[in-house]
Amino acid sequence: MNLFDTHAHYDADAFDGDRDQVLSGLADRGVALVVNPGCDLTSSRTAVALAEKYPFLYAAVGYHPENCGPYVPEDLDALRALAKCPKAVAIGEIGLDYHWEDNPSRELQRRVFRDQLALAEELDLPVIVHDRDAHAESLRLIRAFPRVRGVFHCFSGSAEMARELVGLGWMVSFTGVLTYKNARRALEAAAAVPLERVMIETDSPYMAPVPHRGERCDSGYVSYVCEKLAELKGISPEACAQATLENGRRFFRIP
Ligand SMILES: [Zn+2]
Repeated sequence: MNLFDTHAHYDADAFDGDRDQVLSGLADRGVALVVNPGCDLTSSRTAVALAEKYPFLYAAVGYHPENCGPYVPEDLDALRALAKCPKAVAIGEIGLDYHWEDNPSRELQRRVFRDQLALAEELDLPVIVHDRDAHAESLRLIRAFPRVRGVFHCFSGSAEMARELVGLGWMVSFTGVLTYKNARRALEAAAAVPLERVMIETDSPYMAPVPHRGERCDSGYVSYVCEKLAELKGISPEACAQATLENGRRFFRIP
């Protein structure tokens, strides 16, 4: 199979012991492409460095809402420089996370999100959006940047919201959550998105699909996400892998 894991964090500590082993073994497990988004400046730098080392790995650069506390506007210059590296294909992951009380203030999160949407517009790059418990605000902010296209990763909104994103020309991406017992909402959303607008991902090292739930996740497990989506769409896993691979290539402009 030719799977595209459009969201995995190989810069995470969880891979410190065996990062190169895991990455070197992915091709044999059917993984053709991976995008590694950054979560702050340091992790964006690491993502770009890893992408320069592995031909099948691409990077996105950005400030995750949970990590935007130390953000200063000058950081945009550093992100801009990183985003110009040939293997950087998107600004991400960026967005809003209203789940945890001790996250950076909502006001700061919105400002950092807006600044990075503007950077994506300036550089003509797609964005990777993290939206947790902030659906209405996330939609409001992306609507303010009509020239920017992106993906809502690990989508947790309703089927109605998924249709709205598709209407705006955006993509919707799903993780191993699709395989969980309580996945009704995610399955309904995935069913509502036309096949040509769906991407699949692991969000490694998190979100390992059943039957590996709770373990450290890596891109090899994206096959379980692919199988579940294929079942939902009534197509073979091979056809689903091919479609999501093409979607990802088109979205991230990977030749
Ligand atoms: Zn992520």
